[in-house]
Amino acid sequence: MCETEPTRGSKETMVGERNWAGNYEYRAARIAHPESTVELRDLVVGASSVRALGSRHSFNDLADDAELLVSTAGLPSTVRIDEESRTVTVGGGARYGDLARELQESGWALHNLASLPHISIAGAIATATHGSGDRNGNLAAAVRGLRILRADGELVDLVRGEGGFDGAVVSLGALGVVTEVTLDIEPTFDVGQRLFENLPWDAVLGRLDDVTSAAYSVSLFTTWDEDAVSLAWLKERADQPTDIGDDLFGAKALTVPRHMIRTMDVRNTTEQLGVLGPWSERLAHFRFEFTPSNGEEIQSEYLVPRARAVEAIEAVRRLGPLVAPLLQISEIRTVAADELWLSSAQGTDVVGLHFTWFRDQARVEAILPALEDALLPLGARPHWGKVYADRDGVVPGLYPRLGDFRELVAAHDPRGVFRNAFVDRLLG
Ligand SMILES: Cc1cc2nc3c(=O)[nH]c(=O)nc-3n(C[C@H](O)[C@H](O)[C@H](O)COP(=O)(O)OP(=O)(O)OC[C@H]3O[C@@H](n4cnc5c(N)ncnc54)[C@H](O)[C@@H]3O)c2cc1C
Repeated sequence: MCETEPTRGSKETMVGERNWAGNYEYRAARIAHPESTVELRDLVVGASSVRALGSRHSFNDLADDAELLVSTAGLPSTVRIDEESRTVTVGGGARYGDLARELQESGWALHNLASLPHISIAGAIATATHGSGDRNGNLAAAVRGLRILRADGELVDLVRGEGGFDGAVVSLGALGVVTEVTLDIEPTFDVGQRLFENLPWDAVLGRLDDVTSAAYSVSLFTTWDEDAVSLAWLKERADQPTDIGDDLFGAKALTVPRHMIRTMDVRNTTEQLGVLGPWSERLAHFRFEFTPSNGEEIQSEYLVPRARAVEAIEAVRRLGPLVAPLLQISEIRTVAADELWLSSAQGTDVVGLHFTWFRDQARVEAILPALEDALLPLGARPHWGKVYADRDGVVPGLYPRLGDFRELVAAHDPRGVFRNAFVDRLLG
């Protein structure tokens, strides 16, 4: 199945529109589709409450609850590479897949991608979206600069190292509309992907550090109720060779490609079996031209401090009988620490425990409290763009810089034009 292009060209659409997964219907009265920064500014200045809408790949009300949603899909997305500073500047509404193609054609690379290249850049960094790799920060960690259109119509440039910058990158859309993003780049590199079957739980629990550091990026896929982790998915850089043969701590290298969800078409995934190819066609799990994941799904993810990861994995295994019936697949991956105030990796390396559920909202919401009773006390931070419950209001306390973020929001947006119910729940 081909991915549909985001709506372009039409000035405004109305109620009834949904997010990419279809599990959330936007409640905003209007969705506008500006095609220039001037048009965007007129819309923002004239509205009492606004939220930016990226490629709609979040699963909750984070992008919603405003009088007006402004889609960023039609805004200018020219790519400017600066070889001397090793940066690229691009429109916030551009998608990683488009940027990756242009960078690769010019001999440059990003350090990492999420599982899918279909997401918008500003939407991804606003929620601390990440891929995997012990030494790879999330996508927000690569941001060197931001241009933000604020509610008063002013365009503000923020640069890494300046006061407030660390709070403005993972912004949840609360400061304004990010019209341009500047990202770190490096010379292009090749990657090969290999999948290994049936990794023993003893290896995962007893040698987690060895397993996750085995390659540039390592992801483990499981349904939690199985005797061994069904798949270990390794992305190996050609310029960082590993000495792994066909055996990974007891898991055997696959000789045929595999989708992590057994019922899905393997052609949707990026090339496997160790065939080397550019980073832009290997670092994401899913091909840009095809549907990522399943489509009919809901996702949740909890980022656990690395020091508590084994406890967290053991806890979820104990809940296996509860979660497995609702699960299409789970992914365990790693993210390096950063200092971005609302990043799920702020101040600590983390291990992400990700859940791709069947699209049954009521049943998923019913089991989340049990999962969160096990994980949140370990310091796990829920992914901002996915479904979580936080029944006891624990999440704000997991971010030591939340008070600073509250002040930053007030400074950039004193009238609270970009605040919504989600942000209010967090900031109080
Ligand atoms: C199939 C699938 C696979 C996924 N895989 C991963 C993964 O591998 N890793 C991971 O971490 N997450 C993953 N996600 C989650 C996804 O990356 C995040 O939800 C991300 O935020 C979606 O970006 P978006 O452009 O769709 O933003 P939206 O969902 O449209 O918006 C998200 C937030 O960003 C804000 N925003 C959007 N554009 C702007 C802008 N220009 N300026 C200011 N704020 C803005 C919105 O207001 C909102 O607060 C996946 C989701 C799906 C559907």
